[in-house]
Amino acid sequence: MSPATSKAGLLDRGIASLKGIGPAKAELLAKELQIFSLGDLVYSYPFRYVDRTQFHQIIDILPDQGNVQLKGKLVTLTRRGENRKQRMVGRLRDESGAALELVWFRGINYLDRTYQIGEEYVVYGKVEEFNGKLSITHPEMELAKRAVTEDAATFEPVYASTEKLNKRGLDTRGRRKLIRAIIDQLSPADLPDMLPAYLIEELRLLSHYDAVRMIHLPGNQEELEAARRRLKFEELFLLQMRLLQLKVSREARVAGYAFGQIGEHFNTFFTQHLPFTLTGAQKRVLREIRHDLGRGIQMNRLLQGDVGSGKTMVGLMSMLMALDNGFQACMMAPTEILAYQHYESIQDYLRGMDLRVAFLSGSVKGKARRELLEELAEGRIDILLGTHALIEPPVVFKNLGLAIIDEQHRFGVKQRAKLWKKNTPYPPHVLVMTATPIPRTLAMTAYGDLDVSVIDELPPGRTPIKTVHFTEHRRERVFGRIREEIAKGRQAYIVYPLIEENEKLDLLALEVAYDEMLDRFPRPDYQISVVHGRMKPQDKDFEMARFKNGETQIMMATTVIEVGVNVPNATIMVIVHTERFGLSQLHQLRGRVGRGAEESFCILLSSVKLSKESRKRIKTMVDTTDGFKIAEADLQLRGPGMIDGTQQSGVLQMRIADLAQDGRILSAARDRAKDILEQDPKLQRPEHLLLGRYLEHHMKTVKGWSLIS
Ligand code: ADP
Ligand code: MG
Repeated sequence: MSPATSKAGLLDRGIASLKGIGPAKAELLAKELQIFSLGDLVYSYPFRYVDRTQFHQIIDILPDQGNVQLKGKLVTLTRRGENRKQRMVGRLRDESGAALELVWFRGINYLDRTYQIGEEYVVYGKVEEFNGKLSITHPEMELAKRAVTEDAATFEPVYASTEKLNKRGLDTRGRRKLIRAIIDQLSPADLPDMLPAYLIEELRLLSHYDAVRMIHLPGNQEELEAARRRLKFEELFLLQMRLLQLKVSREARVAGYAFGQIGEHFNTFFTQHLPFTLTGAQKRVLREIRHDLGRGIQMNRLLQGDVGSGKTMVGLMSMLMALDNGFQACMMAPTEILAYQHYESIQDYLRGMDLRVAFLSGSVKGKARRELLEELAEGRIDILLGTHALIEPPVVFKNLGLAIIDEQHRFGVKQRAKLWKKNTPYPPHVLVMTATPIPRTLAMTAYGDLDVSVIDELPPGRTPIKTVHFTEHRRERVFGRIREEIAKGRQAYIVYPLIEENEKLDLLALEVAYDEMLDRFPRPDYQISVVHGRMKPQDKDFEMARFKNGETQIMMATTVIEVGVNVPNATIMVIVHTERFGLSQLHQLRGRVGRGAEESFCILLSSVKLSKESRKRIKTMVDTTDGFKIAEADLQLRGPGMIDGTQQSGVLQMRIADLAQDGRILSAARDRAKDILEQDPKLQRPEHLLLGRYLEHHMKTVKGWSLIS
C-alpha cells in the first residue's frame, strides 16, 4: 500500500474485518479471486456496467447483435443430454411474445435449485445463433424484482465472480454491497494521489480518490468516463515509469564493451561483398545498432522486421562490427533447419573473406563437436551459427561480443538470461530479431525496457503476393493452379494445420491427404515432399533439402515450415483448413512465398461455414500483406494476452487499461514518463516525491509485474 497513507492503512486490512465476511468467505475470496485485503477489493474494478432501465426486445434481436439485456419470464427449464454431456436448457419469453434459449453446461444442480419457472428475470449475455435458433450460453441472470428494488441506481457495476462465490452470496450483488461499505469509510487520505499535481491539472484528470469511488459507483455516464480515463492513464503511466526506470538503471548498472571502431571486416564487406544495396530501413537500423554498440553500455535491442525484410543481413553486418573490435559473435535460430540456413547464407555472403564461420547444433557430435568447441574457446571461430545448443554450458567462447537471437518468440526469458552469462566481465550485446510484428502498444509494454528498431521497408523488386480465399469444394481449381505453376518450373507448398492436442488425428489427415495428392500428382511427373514436426530432424532436413534443390515440386507440410525457410522458386502456397490457424501464423506461413522475382500466390482454403472471427481473419489476410496491420487486427480480435511474443509478459495483465483500445492514452503516458525521468531522473523534486515513493514501495507488489523487475 501507499506509504503516504498515515493511518495504519484501512486498505491493508484483511477482508475478514468486514461485516458479513467470516473466515470461510474470506478464504473463498482469496482462493477464487486472489482478494486478501480491502485494497484488493477496492482495486478490483467492475468489468462492465448495466443500465438497468434499458432492455432489448427478443423479437428485435439480430443473430450477430452481441450482448443484450432482456427482461422476461422463464417458461421452461429442462435437463438435456446424458451424464457428462448434460446441459440445462431454459426458455425465456418477453413481452414482445418471442422467446429464446438459455443454455448452461456447468453448475446444473445449482441452477435447478435457484431459478423458478414462471418468475421474471433480468438476463444478460451474448446472443448466438444455431440452426436459426437464438440462444445465450451461461447468461448472467437475476430476479427482476430484486434487480429493480435493491439498487436504486440505474447504473450498476458488474464484478467478476465464480460459480463458488455466487453460491456463497458473493455474486456481483454481494460484491457491490461490500464495496459500498468500504467506500463509505474511505477518505481522500486513504487514497492519496501519486501523480504529480501539475499533471493532474494539465490533463484535467480526476483525483485518485474520486476516480476510485466513481469507477465503482458512477452517478452517470460522464463520471464513469472521467474515472476510466484517470485510472487508465494512471495505470499506463505508472507502468511506463517503471519500465523506463528499469531501463535507466540497467544501463547504469550493466556496462558493456564499447565497439568504438568500424574496421576492416565491415568495410571490406560493405565495399566488395555486399550483393545488393541496403534498403533505407536496413541502413537506419544499422546506424541505431552501431550507436548502441559504441556506448559502453550493454545493448538490448529488439529488431522487428517483417518476413523477407532482410534481417539476416543486418544481423551479419552487426556481427562484423563485433569482429572488427576483436570479438566473436553468434546467431541462434529456434530450429535446426533455420539455423543451418543462416549458416549457408552467411557463408555465402562472406565467401572470399578470411573469416571462420561454424555451425553448432545438437546433431553435431563426437569428434567434430570436440574440435569445434576447442576452436571456439581458443577464438579461432569468428562467427558461430546454430540452435539453442549455443547457449548450453559446455559451449565456451573466447570473447563473445554480440549474440543475436533470430525469431525471438520461441526463446524464453530464461534462455535470454543464460546468454547474458556467456561472457565475462561484460555480458555480450544482445540483438533479438523477430519476424512477428508486434503492435506498437504491445511493444511499448511487453518490451518497454528494450530498445526497439523496426525495418518497415521490403527490398525493392518484390511482386506483392496475391491472396485469395476458396472454400473446400473448389479444391479442383486449386489443384489446377498448382499444376500451372509447376508447369512453369515453379514449386508449391501445401500447408496443413497440426494442433498439438489433436496431433494423431492431424497426422492421419496428412497421410490421407498425401494419398490423395499422389493420385492427383502422379510420379514420375511430379515429386512430393512431406515434412512434419514428428519426423526425425535428419529426415526432415533431407526432405527440405530435396525441395530446396528442386528435386521435388510439392512440399506438403505442417507448420514446421513457418519461419524463415527460404525457397525463392516456390511461388504458390495453399493453406488447408485456414480457419484453424491464427492470424500471425498465417502471415508467417505466407511469407514463405513471394521470395523471388516471380509473382506469387497464396490460396486460403476453408470450409464453407465459418465463424465471424475466422471470416475476419481471412479477410484481413486477403486485404493486406503488411505484417504490422495484420498484428493490429490480431490484437483487436484476440486481445493482448494472446499475441505471439507477449505471453510471458506479466505486464499485460492490467486492471483497467486495454492495449487493444488505449493506444493513445499509452503514448501520452509514455511521453510524460520520459519527460519526467529526463528532467528529474531520481524523482527528487518536491512535486515528484510521492510518485517516487509510490513506485519504490508499491510497484513491486503489483500482481504479475515481478517479471519486469
Ligand atoms: P528476413 O527478414 O525474413 O530474415 P532475409 O534476411 O532472409 O529476411 O532476407 C530475405 C531475402 O532478401 C534474402 O534472399 C536476402 O538476400 C534478400 N535481401 C535482403 N536485403 C536486401 C536488399 N537490401 N536488397 C535486395 N535483397 C535483399
Ligand atoms: Mg530470417
